[in-house]
Amino acid sequence: MRSKKDLAIYLSKLKVFNKPKVRLEQYPTNTDIAADVIWNAFFQKDLKVVADLGAGTGILGLGCLVMGAEKVYFVEKDLDAIAILKENLIKVEEEYDIGEYEIINSDIAEFNTKVDTTIMNSPFGVQNVHADKQFLQIAFLISKVVYSLHKLESGKFISKFSTNNKFEITHLWKYDYLIRNTMKYHTKDKHRFMIGCWRMSKI
Ligand code: SAH
Repeated sequence: MRSKKDLAIYLSKLKVFNKPKVRLEQYPTNTDIAADVIWNAFFQKDLKVVADLGAGTGILGLGCLVMGAEKVYFVEKDLDAIAILKENLIKVEEEYDIGEYEIINSDIAEFNTKVDTTIMNSPFGVQNVHADKQFLQIAFLISKVVYSLHKLESGKFISKFSTNNKFEITHLWKYDYLIRNTMKYHTKDKHRFMIGCWRMSKI
């Protein structure tokens, strides 16, 4: 990839959820944001062994593979999402000489393999109140560095929870996030809010 823009364009050609499931808060990460997060992780030299928790159709982990990660674990409990992830992997493997990967079809709570870095866009906890907390908890257990996307308003919680788990926030990148009305519980056509990507490193 010659530029972040090239990466974003490539990621935008991957497939996303056919029928997003409300209960699982399935929405793909916006491709510009995903490219930015992966680009940052690349320059921080964080793309070695990577876990993508709640991988969905795989945009984050696939981007890591394209940018040279040694190995990516895609952890996802929904088989419909995994079917699309597999199609995306076939495409990426045809076009790039990528590292290793494993698809783990389970709840993230069952995953306990040690990795260098976790990159995730977990459910924000709209449907299941503590969903993002559970994702962070697992990420802190298995990794040295965590990249995690949340609503910006969750900042206080992230800060406290990372300190409690002996991680320090090294970076916070902010994004304007626009989601289209893909789910029944959204009332407006479009919904705009600020999100952040926190980089947290084990102390
Ligand atoms: N990371 C993807 C998908 C984000 S949507 C992207 O950036 O595009 C969140 C994903 O987490 C969904 O695919 C959902 O099925 C999955 N998920 C939610 N709870 C989970 C859990 N407890 N264990 C594993 N996967 C989970």
